[in-house]
Amino acid sequence: MWYMNEERAMIRDMVRDFTENEVKPFVREMEEKDAYPHEIMRKAGELGILGLAYPESVGGQGQDFVNLGIALEEIAKESQCASLCVLLSGFLGARPICDLGTPEQQEKILKPIIEGKEIFVNSLTEPVGINNWFDYRTTAVLDGDEWVINGGKIFATNAGEAEWYSVMCVTGEIDPMQMKGLSMIMVHKDTPGFTVGHIENKLGLHGSATGQLYFKNCRVPKSQVLGTVDFGYAQLAPNTMKGMAYLGLIAIGGAEGVYEKTVKYCKERMHVGKSLYDSYQVVRHQLAEMYGKIDMAKAELYAILDDMNNNDPTVLTRSLLAKGNAHKIAEEIASKCVLLHGGNGVVVENDIERYYRDAKMWDIAGGDVPALVDAATMFL
Ligand SMILES: Cc1cc2nc3c(=O)[nH]c(=O)nc-3n(C[C@H](O)[C@H](O)[C@H](O)COP(=O)(O)OP(=O)(O)OC[C@H]3O[C@@H](n4cnc5c(N)ncnc54)[C@H](O)[C@@H]3O)c2cc1C
Repeated sequence: MWYMNEERAMIRDMVRDFTENEVKPFVREMEEKDAYPHEIMRKAGELGILGLAYPESVGGQGQDFVNLGIALEEIAKESQCASLCVLLSGFLGARPICDLGTPEQQEKILKPIIEGKEIFVNSLTEPVGINNWFDYRTTAVLDGDEWVINGGKIFATNAGEAEWYSVMCVTGEIDPMQMKGLSMIMVHKDTPGFTVGHIENKLGLHGSATGQLYFKNCRVPKSQVLGTVDFGYAQLAPNTMKGMAYLGLIAIGGAEGVYEKTVKYCKERMHVGKSLYDSYQVVRHQLAEMYGKIDMAKAELYAILDDMNNNDPTVLTRSLLAKGNAHKIAEEIASKCVLLHGGNGVVVENDIERYYRDAKMWDIAGGDVPALVDAATMFL
């Protein structure tokens, strides 16, 4: 691939070892017990994986967005859940602190996240839906030196497992045209008035702890607002949109993982004296087609990440659209891979159906195709 160089190949190999030694042995526990990958997050911090998209000035590895993509793709081949947890805490959640945060916020909140010592949650979604942000009900009112938060959030990934929660609150009059009226406030888990509610039992991505958050007269220091008061949604939107390219890459990483297992299976599974692969041209054609689709999706996604390194503004719209393309391809490939495994494809112990369930999750998590395309049209 054109984006590979010596440094990136070293990162890929390092993450490949990490995935083999730390992620793979924990996959069944995540899957069966919905166990959160704390140890994986700690080691990802230790190895610098969580710092790949950050400048050295805040403790990162030098802010190369392609490098983070390479790491997430490698982890996702084995576990899309572990890859998502890394992305959510390390990029989708905490990355705005690097661009918008005060030096104190960077030292107190961001540094431990990059080091893998603490976990971060990015909570936007409310029961009215993620796109209807102008109808959000969670409010924060300034009382002296404190914000008083009341309301609730749903579908927050890393919920109950994190130290820090960024909460999008209504702080002023909502003006949809100016994307005004909301502020992002960071809440520590031990703050009185904050509780974590039900953790959802999901179709896939087991272990990623998607849950509800409640705030009742929850008092937070004024200094924990991120960026400009009332412009939190507008200021955080670019990071959320860039994050879509990474979600696409995690989906494609999962597709690669199941594709590789399927090629191996087709070459080993015997049918009338020959392997499935050698017996049937239709099988070989399906595999070749999958390879091409993965390659095409990766080309699109890595081009976006490379352009992010160059501050190209088109990456926002392209990330939304590419995420939609990637998750459609990932779902199609996972479905075909289950089929090529025959009965073995639906047996839980064989660990093929997990990829299929996880692939379906990307159809929704982070935005489905109609919603992504609709959002993209606003930036054309
Ligand atoms: C596993 C998981 C993890 C998540 N993690 C987080 C998180 O960490 N933080 C967070 O804030 N949120 C999180 N979410 C929320 C997630 O981003 C939303 O659930 C998702 O974007 C879909 O939004 P919705 O649930 O409001 O569905 P809706 O937007 O209500 O969608 C319902 C239907 O309406 C259609 N639709 C919606 N908008 C349009 C449109 N503009 N044009 C045409 N049709 C449309 C959709 O296609 C869909 O079929 C998570 C969700 C899941 C499932």
